[in-house]
Amino acid sequence: MRILLLGGIGEALQLARRLACRHELTYSLAGRVRPRADLPYVVRVGGFGGVEGLRDFLRRNNIELLLDVTHPYAAQISRHAVLAAKQAHIPVWAYRRPPWQPEAEDNWQPFRDWSELRIALAAFSRPLFTIGLEPLRHSHEIPPDQHWLVRCLETQPEPSPRLTVLNATGPFGLEEELHLLRHWQVDVLISKNSGGKAVAAKLQAARVQGIPVLMWQRPELPAADEEFDAVEVIAGRLGC
Ligand code: NAP
Repeated sequence: MRILLLGGIGEALQLARRLACRHELTYSLAGRVRPRADLPYVVRVGGFGGVEGLRDFLRRNNIELLLDVTHPYAAQISRHAVLAAKQAHIPVWAYRRPPWQPEAEDNWQPFRDWSELRIALAAFSRPLFTIGLEPLRHSHEIPPDQHWLVRCLETQPEPSPRLTVLNATGPFGLEEELHLLRHWQVDVLISKNSGGKAVAAKLQAARVQGIPVLMWQRPELPAADEEFDAVEVIAGRLGC
């Protein structure tokens, strides 16, 4: 079967490796991370140009099944996938990674967007942001009594005495996360509810340290034709 797999997370790579033996697979990346060179299938990199661009790609390449295995916060491409597959009259299946759930000792406070987060942040002085580059777009808003620690993929913002950027990519272990929270005297953690194991230790570290977590709520996604919470099940359904 000719399959287009929208990837960008670890599970997408796992699935691609399994499907490649039996199917004609194209693996698609947005372009943030460099593709590995040793992959046994076609890799394409970069956006399609919206819903129409994706629909045209599906038609031009006679794709029979679209698999959305993107990050739970990559909402735009997931929305485009559902619309484009419909227009191209092919099915779309989606992997929806299960969210993390709080434990009894956790103090998680939800927020929906930056304006809600800003209000919640006022009670703290040394936040650690683990939500990508968004805080750097607001670094001019840092109040005089706060220091922001931002962990994100490689970027070099303007130096500021109230901002420290740590360029790092997971996975991170518990000891590492505890050291980070203690060393920087972090008093609140800001996180996406990404789910998975790779970056979950920060939540455990916050629990150990008794630090609250401001948790960005997941974006709403349109329903795919079929949805899965494990890529092994998708592989099984496709005979791999
Ligand atoms: P997004 O906001 O949903 O997508 C923005 C645009 O990037 C899309 O409209 C599309 O461009 C292009 N795009 C996204 N994923 C693509 C893919 N797999 N193949 C080809 N084009 C793609 O996504 P995002 O939040 O910027 O994330 C970009 C990628 O990074 C995603 O593939 C996601 O799986 C991965 N990722 C995201 C996060 C996160 O926290 N958001 C974390 C880890 C990994 P066109 O409209 O031009 O087609």
